[in-house]
Amino acid sequence: MLQQTQVATVIPYFNKWIQKWPTVQALADAKVEEVLQTWAGLGYYSRGRRLHEGAKIIMEKLNGKIPDSVSELTKLIPGIGAYSASAIASIAFQKPAGVVDGNVIRVLSRMRIIGAHVSQPGVRDHLWELANKIVSKKRPGDFNQSLMELGATICTPQNPNCASCPVNKYCHAYNMTKTTPTAGKIEFIFEKH
Ligand code: SF4
Repeated sequence: MLQQTQVATVIPYFNKWIQKWPTVQALADAKVEEVLQTWAGLGYYSRGRRLHEGAKIIMEKLNGKIPDSVSELTKLIPGIGAYSASAIASIAFQKPAGVVDGNVIRVLSRMRIIGAHVSQPGVRDHLWELANKIVSKKRPGDFNQSLMELGATICTPQNPNCASCPVNKYCHAYNMTKTTPTAGKIEFIFEKH
């Protein structure tokens, strides 16, 4: 629900949804018309349809068990891509999978001074590799949510609050702006991401 939609908008929809279908089984048993009716107002109806289809696959083909790895989630349930699979595996199952969304792209690009835009060949793959490498092995879900939240609240596109940033000690872009000879030359990193 949160893909492309803000938290404040999602909350009442989420509460209603969970009240109606508190389990995967309950959602799988629902009629698609009712699912789409409950989704109405959130937009991007394919997400609601996919959730319903996913619940049916879990109940009918996977013995009611949600896969817990990125590879199985993407392979067995249509509509679950790399981002959703990593988020589910790390947050719900504590698997050490990194996530890459718009906020994470910005944070990592600044921290590692990646000058190339994410649309350029190889950049996205490199960011995924990096996210998988740095994710906490003990608390991957918390780590991923923290990284996304950092990008949403502190490492914002305009005017990042570097002075209050909890990881500024490790941020190459921030530290280079403080080094006299390179000050000013690194600003493009902030403008680009
Ligand atoms: S120090 Fe600044 S640029 Fe670096 S991660 Fe923190 S907010 Fe972003």
